Amino acid sequence: MAGTAMSLCTLCKTQLPLSSPEQWTAPDGEVVDVDRTAVPSAVVETSLREFEICEFCYQRTLPGFFTRQDLAEIHYQFGLEYRDRGQHARNIASLTQALQLCETADIFAALAYAENRLGHRDAAIAYYRRALQIDPVHFMSRENLQKLL
Ligand SMILES: [Zn+2]
Repeated sequence: MAGTAMSLCTLCKTQLPLSSPEQWTAPDGEVVDVDRTAVPSAVVETSLREFEICEFCYQRTLPGFFTRQDLAEIHYQFGLEYRDRGQHARNIASLTQALQLCETADIFAALAYAENRLGHRDAAIAYYRRALQIDPVHFMSRENLQKLL
């Protein structure tokens, strides 16, 4: 996404205008410049190829050629997109949908991060622990769980 002059939804072929680049602080504290599309969108590596998906397509029924894993990844990436835009309810809704399709350490960690931001420390701790059950060396989960305990 960063550095591209223009974005295009792979599904509906709609051009996604970019808003001006902004600074964004990643969960690990790193500050990066990002080109953000004016409407929410996500770049997703699927089993077929890389797709850029606009929010409109995401919220409609997604095509049947996506595998369960692809769909989980799409929900996960939109979860992150909503997180970066400060849309907390949608962030959690997308991550929860991802989790129903596929349980990964990344998804649990993203949910933990969201819960912690809402002040739900116990839920955050529980999700980080689930992430570490799946991947004992999951870096973000280890780091953030340590801070919470
Ligand atoms: Zn679209």
